[in-house]
Amino acid sequence: MKLPILFLFAALVALTGCQTVAQEPVTAPFEQHDLPYGFNALEPHIDAQTMEVHYSKHHAGYTTKFNKAIEDEGLSDMEVENILANVSKYSTAIRNNGGGYYNHELFWSVLTPNKTELSEELLAAINKAFGSLDEAKSKLNEAASSRFGSGWAWLIVTTNGELAITSTPNQDNPLMDVAEQKGTPIFGIDVWEHAYYLKYQNKRGDYLSAIWNVVNWEEVSRRYAEATNPEG
Ligand code: MN
Repeated sequence: MKLPILFLFAALVALTGCQTVAQEPVTAPFEQHDLPYGFNALEPHIDAQTMEVHYSKHHAGYTTKFNKAIEDEGLSDMEVENILANVSKYSTAIRNNGGGYYNHELFWSVLTPNKTELSEELLAAINKAFGSLDEAKSKLNEAASSRFGSGWAWLIVTTNGELAITSTPNQDNPLMDVAEQKGTPIFGIDVWEHAYYLKYQNKRGDYLSAIWNVVNWEEVSRRYAEATNPEG
């Protein structure tokens, strides 16, 4: 009588143990995750109307079109990072909408209305690469303000494990094989006009100053740790 119960218990432990070890790859259809805060949470730095249109129209649109293009091109068994790393092989629809999907998933996660702190490790790496956090911010703002037209500015971990600042046009990102400078993005600033025009109009610089009030340094630090220690 006791044996089957013990066996069941052991099987359960083994099963749940297995699930934590072998992580299921995430493949299409890709899901637009809930915003981790309300549309108005980043006021006055990023206004509620911009957030609502940006999330529910722009990001939702990229997500739908990305999933459609994946189906059309038979990429349903691939993880998003893998699709982006090989993006030159696929259509413009995959490049634009896959980038749009991924970039905005990252963007919402690295913003927050809460006060957050950088990890010691990330701060040390920033000081080493750029001299200081202020210097890193001003280099990022420089990359963002000099990006002509639409695009993104990025803080990345390069393949050497070092930090670098770069920018990409349109919805490209540094994971893509077409990117000039490749790496794992741990923070990004959306400099499409749809990200700031309703509140800031042509004043991209004002948006770039304001965004530092709502950066989720905890999440940037978590991404830094993950990118520098992918096994852990
Ligand atoms: Mn955007």
